[in-house]
Amino acid sequence: MSQSYEVIFENNRKWVESKLADNPDFFHDLAKNQNPDYLYIGCSDSRATAEELMGAKPGEVFVHRNIANIVNTLDMSSTAVIQYAVEHLKVKHIIVCGHYNCGGVKAAMTPEDLGLLNPWLRNIRDVYRLHQSELDSIEDESKRYDRLVELNVQEQCINVVKMAWFGKKADRK
Ligand SMILES: [Zn+2]
Repeated sequence: MSQSYEVIFENNRKWVESKLADNPDFFHDLAKNQNPDYLYIGCSDSRATAEELMGAKPGEVFVHRNIANIVNTLDMSSTAVIQYAVEHLKVKHIIVCGHYNCGGVKAAMTPEDLGLLNPWLRNIRDVYRLHQSELDSIEDESKRYDRLVELNVQEQCINVVKMAWFGKKADRK
């Protein structure tokens, strides 16, 4: 019986074959450059895929994923991605995509010590604190959790806008 990783390699071989069957120059053309219109910032959750849920093809979306789709100026990875996407790739749109049943958001709602995850989850705990009166007024725990998922996306969008603004300001100097 094949190991799961062997299936992945086999799937990749089939994918290459199917792309070449459609267009013999597919990889040659793809290797030239990338010119995506979109930057997608989403959760690392295995169920929340980027390209697949948007019906996008290779070359169309620049992707950044982390636990609970956080944008934080102290995180060099997300700031580098945003700066590169805006200044160099000149993407037209930035998408911040959250999802219900997000494990990161759920973990942030629990007061447990989660070790290395604590500083990361603090970003979401800060979102909770910013909207505490609204969230605490929601009695149903699953509804409160869903609302925090939504508010987290909203706050991360604000963080993106702040960063994009800094980028434009730098351009004017
Ligand atoms: Zn998630």
